[in-house]
Amino acid sequence: MPFWSEFSHESFQKAAGKTEVVVMVTGAMEAHGTHLPLATDSYLPTYLAEKVAEKTDALVLPTIPFGDSWEFNNFEGTISIAPDVLVDVYNSIMKGVFKHGFQYLVVLNGHGGNIPALTMAAKTATKRGNRVVIIVNWWKDLAENARKLVEETPGGHAAEDETSELMHVRPELVDMSKAVSHRVVTKFRIISGSYRDELLPSAMYGDPRKATPEKGRLIMEQAEEELIELINQLQQGKLPLIRE
Ligand SMILES: [Zn+2]
Repeated sequence: MPFWSEFSHESFQKAAGKTEVVVMVTGAMEAHGTHLPLATDSYLPTYLAEKVAEKTDALVLPTIPFGDSWEFNNFEGTISIAPDVLVDVYNSIMKGVFKHGFQYLVVLNGHGGNIPALTMAAKTATKRGNRVVIIVNWWKDLAENARKLVEETPGGHAAEDETSELMHVRPELVDMSKAVSHRVVTKFRIISGSYRDELLPSAMYGDPRKATPEKGRLIMEQAEEELIELINQLQQGKLPLIRE
């Protein structure tokens, strides 16, 4: 079980000698409708990261439970980190990982709002040496086929996909009696501190009512398989490229 935080500084050396790959998990603390918990975007990638720790030698860092959740700041329970601060936090962690000599850092990201900060941090952290950051936005990069097969409505925020996944991973935290459908579609990206509730009513974007634990299981199983395949590929020094 190679969890970075569980080694001593001495036993860490031995574990580090077995791998070139470190997994950094980035989540969020934000409203997800009234039927899902605030840490939804942390629970789902953490679940996958635990599978990686179980089945590979890659070292798994503890999940960062906060991210850039500006869009949901008006909803109770949301805690958001400003993007410029987040860039510094991510960059410091990435540099801290690379200073130990690892070549690959897989960011298992659970939240769309983190993508700009992760990208900026990775550009700085990989400037020197032979360092590689791979950002896996797991909800769109993994299990694409399973999603196509099982989903009856388009994905979104606290929608059918995320709700099904959480029903599989943490069923006790899902309250389907509260699940409602909202999707406010805008042609342009509207950013406004005062209209957040109007753009995302009930902190929702999508229709969770067709969610089932079985759909979640199929998505999570395929996501796990693809993620472990990526880690194994990196262990062999191969970048995940498709040349067309
Ligand atoms: Zn989410």
